[in-house]
Amino acid sequence: MDFPIKKFLSYYKPYLRVYLLVLTCALIASAATLAFPLLVRYITKNVLEGNSSIVLNEVYGIGGFMLLLAVIQNAGNYIVDYKGHEVGARMESDLRLELFSHIQKLSFQFFDKEKTGQLMSRITTDLLLLSELYHHGPEDYVKYLIRFMGAFFILLFINAPLTIAVFCFLPLLGGFLVLFNKILNKAYRTSKARMADVNAQVEDSLAGIRVVKSFGNEQVEIEKFNKENNRFLESRKRIYKAEAYLYNGVETFIQLITITVIVFGSAAIVHESLDLPDLITFLLYIGFMIEPIQRMTHMTTQFQEGITGFQRFMEIINVKPGIDNLPSSRKLHPVAGGIEFRNVSFRYEDHLDHVLENLSLQISPGEFVAFVGPSGAGKTTLCSLLPRFYDVSKGEVLLDTSDVRDIDLLSLRKSIGLVQQDVYLFSGTVMENIRYGNPEATDEEILAAARQAHAHEFIMDLPDGYHSEIGQRGVRLSGGQKQRLSIARVFLKNPPVIIFDEATSALDNESERIIKESLNKLAQGRTTLVIAHRLSTIQHAERIVVLTKDGIAEQGTHHSLLENNGIYASLYSTQFEWSR
Ligand code: ADP
Ligand code: MG
Repeated sequence: MDFPIKKFLSYYKPYLRVYLLVLTCALIASAATLAFPLLVRYITKNVLEGNSSIVLNEVYGIGGFMLLLAVIQNAGNYIVDYKGHEVGARMESDLRLELFSHIQKLSFQFFDKEKTGQLMSRITTDLLLLSELYHHGPEDYVKYLIRFMGAFFILLFINAPLTIAVFCFLPLLGGFLVLFNKILNKAYRTSKARMADVNAQVEDSLAGIRVVKSFGNEQVEIEKFNKENNRFLESRKRIYKAEAYLYNGVETFIQLITITVIVFGSAAIVHESLDLPDLITFLLYIGFMIEPIQRMTHMTTQFQEGITGFQRFMEIINVKPGIDNLPSSRKLHPVAGGIEFRNVSFRYEDHLDHVLENLSLQISPGEFVAFVGPSGAGKTTLCSLLPRFYDVSKGEVLLDTSDVRDIDLLSLRKSIGLVQQDVYLFSGTVMENIRYGNPEATDEEILAAARQAHAHEFIMDLPDGYHSEIGQRGVRLSGGQKQRLSIARVFLKNPPVIIFDEATSALDNESERIIKESLNKLAQGRTTLVIAHRLSTIQHAERIVVLTKDGIAEQGTHHSLLENNGIYASLYSTQFEWSR
């Protein structure tokens, strides 16, 4: 991946003024540093010439001047170290926020493919060295370029042939640096991807820890983890090998340069084309030239990590949300709740087979429709087309005669309430979790919603009632209780259309009865789509649609379908047998 330099630089914009200050301070500090050896040269020359009386007076003056330079240099570097790092950290945090916000907006298609743990590493560890790159990158290049060029011209002035001899090494050194930058970029990218794999493995094992323990498979998970951990280790080993080559290769060049200067410099003294103070000054400036090279090679490895982090950041930023508002989309209000699937075909991206093919179905406002059928028939998929979790491959889905793709996405989703098969509760209190249905709701409204969802009683039995913490460090709720909280959320949201995907896991009879009651209450005055696994939940539905892999097999009321003696009738008799 090429480095998107324009995009990279655009993040400086909000901090341009502070950053210019930092750059200016870096410039002044390096100029001050550069003046030091010249003063040393002046003093040593005069002392050697034995001009002691004049010299002593001047030495004090020069000493004072050097002190001033030292103060300027350190004050400048203080601003660079403090403000510069702060700017870098702010920019890194801007990128992190942008990445998180962008991921929030991506569609299900994206989340079907990406692993949570890997995304976590992109947001956290991948961006860590970006602040260093942002802060030190341009600043160091400016600072060291000044030092390097300054040293070069002063050296040229002191002794041109020796300077040119030294600079003959530089193209070689340059080529060496470019090569190793390439190698390191690749090594860091691999390593970051491996780290992401480790994260994904941790996330997976911990999220499924109940399954792990129930199968007694701790050792299996440890081995899976160790495999990823080792792959990460291997990638680190490759980095350190390349880094060791780089550092020591550069060191070799530096020694070559120093030896050249000492040998040819001494020869020049013998031939009297150079004096001792000049050789000392020469060596000091060579040190000034070499220090940037050393620093830059060490920084380069950090910068490379920052650059690869930025490249991985851009990979996600460049993903467009597959499902977004069209320019023509408009808000729907008020929604009556009529729904139509018109010749709908759908297949998941990267899958060959269609889940739905040429399916048509009309649902009137306020109707209660149940979907039943074998698992994998496409019931959940069909219902997910209405809130545009996915878009149809062919055909149209209409809400109140508008194609859902023409409706403003937020207003579309606000008009649909969803109770999912497996309810997700956020960490926080029971109260906060219900409020998720409508952030503006008052406590009274939340209590009323909980009552309607038949959740109030069990909530009051929790240790802290509505203020009980849920989740990892809080109370554990049963499947039925979670579903009732989820229903309470939808009561609070109060949408004209609801989709209820019944939990596949078995509930006890009492929970089932309570949930059925609250569902029926929720359904009043709303268009209701229920995906049912227990036929007892939906016998009273106005319409039951039997969906199979080949599409809609039959539809009608419970009684008409029983009379039909088709798929529904046989499903019903097996479940009836079962429950006896
Ligand atoms: P049902 O709800 O009737 O059990 P689904 O709608 O969940 O059926 O699934 C229908 C088919 O689509 C199944 O073959 C399933 O494997 C597939 N499927 C479901 N979700 C996805 C997905 N996110 N990506 C790819 N295939 C999927
Ligand atoms: Mg399903």
